[in-house]
Amino acid sequence: MQDILHRLGLDSATNSGVYADGWVAHPSGDPTSSTNPATGAVLGTVVAGGADDYEHCVQAAQAAYARWRTTPAPARGELVRQCGDALRAHKDDLGALVTLEMGKIRAEGLGEVQEMIDIADFAVGLSRQLYGLTMHSERPGHRMYEQWHPMGPIGIISAFNFPVAVWSWNAFLAAACGDTMIWKPSPMTPLCGVAVQNIVAPIMEAAGFGGVFNLCLGDVEPVGETMIADKRLPLISATGSVRMGKRVGEVVGARLGRSLLELGGNNAIIVMDDADLDLALRGVLFGAVGTAGQRCTSTRRVLLHRDIAGAFTERLVEAYGHVSIGDPMADDTLCGPLINAGAVDGMLAAVASARSQGAEILCGGQRAEVPGLPGGHFVQPTIAQAPKALPIMQDETFAPLLYLVPIDDLDEAIAIQNGVPQGLSSAVFTRNVLNAERFLSATGSDCGIANVNIGTSGAEIGGAFGGEKDTGGGREAGSDSWKAYMRRQTCTINYTSELPLAQGIEFGG
Ligand code: NAD
Repeated sequence: MQDILHRLGLDSATNSGVYADGWVAHPSGDPTSSTNPATGAVLGTVVAGGADDYEHCVQAAQAAYARWRTTPAPARGELVRQCGDALRAHKDDLGALVTLEMGKIRAEGLGEVQEMIDIADFAVGLSRQLYGLTMHSERPGHRMYEQWHPMGPIGIISAFNFPVAVWSWNAFLAAACGDTMIWKPSPMTPLCGVAVQNIVAPIMEAAGFGGVFNLCLGDVEPVGETMIADKRLPLISATGSVRMGKRVGEVVGARLGRSLLELGGNNAIIVMDDADLDLALRGVLFGAVGTAGQRCTSTRRVLLHRDIAGAFTERLVEAYGHVSIGDPMADDTLCGPLINAGAVDGMLAAVASARSQGAEILCGGQRAEVPGLPGGHFVQPTIAQAPKALPIMQDETFAPLLYLVPIDDLDEAIAIQNGVPQGLSSAVFTRNVLNAERFLSATGSDCGIANVNIGTSGAEIGGAFGGEKDTGGGREAGSDSWKAYMRRQTCTINYTSELPLAQGIEFGG
């Protein structure tokens, strides 16, 4: 483990958590311990930023912005390309750190870094494709077009469960778009934040642009609340719980800033009677147990057609019996720990509520003891069979707790699926094209992501990622999500010596 930390530049017992166009040697905030959720061991300490450190970060981002926004976009993309290459070189170590600090299994830790590399590649291409539209003017001798300009320094707030990828979805697009930024990572995964900064900072510094990517580790106070209220940041991109998003939306909205919110999900898979059940089983297993149920897109509910419910449930319970729970660094582990003791308590409380509301626990439902890892926050992946949709299913429990509900037909399933406050990801398993199209229609899934014969989790970066309703409405990553990081300008040029008014208005002589 020390080797991994060493190669990521995390040698010192106490690391700085503030980078403002250069590392701040002694930030004024509190030391934050990083704990391995699988063992309880302290991995290292990072000193958070205080109000003065935050201010330095903003000033660094503003100073860099003055030059970055006039740097040609393809030249900005070239630096993002180099960051992507540096991530390729550090993929193994950074992926291991994600596993050590957040607890997702090794394959998923590596997958998270691959996602960073993928979005870097995307942003490089994007840097030559920040296209605007041209329109035909209604006035003779006039030309109209739209162009996109950088917005300014922006704020990025990220959650613990994707401690490195979420930064890159925002940071690489924003950098290609000409913005500079300040990142506030989750206080639960501080080392990942420092490691990412260590990887990209030398590239940006060598080009004279150290102030493009800044880092200010800190809790809600003093850093988080100061950042969201800061009028100098025209955009706050925040990933995390619905509770956090409502607060960010309120504060940023009150100053008429722009917020990009990526919040909690409550994702369902519908399994129809005509589904390929082998496929559905694998989709449900990965969606519900992968990342120990700690993805925003994790499968929380499975809506099973009555005709296949019995057989499918039997196979699912059997598959759960083969899930190896344990050290996420071990190759054969499928389910690592939850992030902390509070998350374990939260899951056990949800299991108790589900029981009291009429659900039957088919498997799991308790803490898991892993030999040799007494300090780990392990739980048993749990299946709760419910006779119908229960009140507890309105909530996102960030743990491997899966509810099964029987349904009679697709319309009933869609109504249950949509009948929750969140609207992130959704899926149907069916081999019937009519069912698939009905699910994808305007009266089908109300989520930002709707899949057919694929589970709810594991999105590709090429599509726009995000969800509706309480999930916040934001879109990150692919497609035209880049537009959130730029300001749009409509330009009209008159190349005549007349001054005709729009709508044919005559004004004076
Ligand atoms: P969280 O809301 O507790 O914290 C997320 C981040 O917000 C942290 O950096 C935290 O310090 C910060 N924060 C909290 N209150 C703040 C405030 N008032 N001002 C400024 N910053 C504030 O979430 P978490 O427990 O770290 O992550 C899990 C949640 O994130 C789940 O709900 C999950 O679904 C969601 N999530 C959503 C997506 C998505 O893309 N939709 C992706 C990952 C995680």
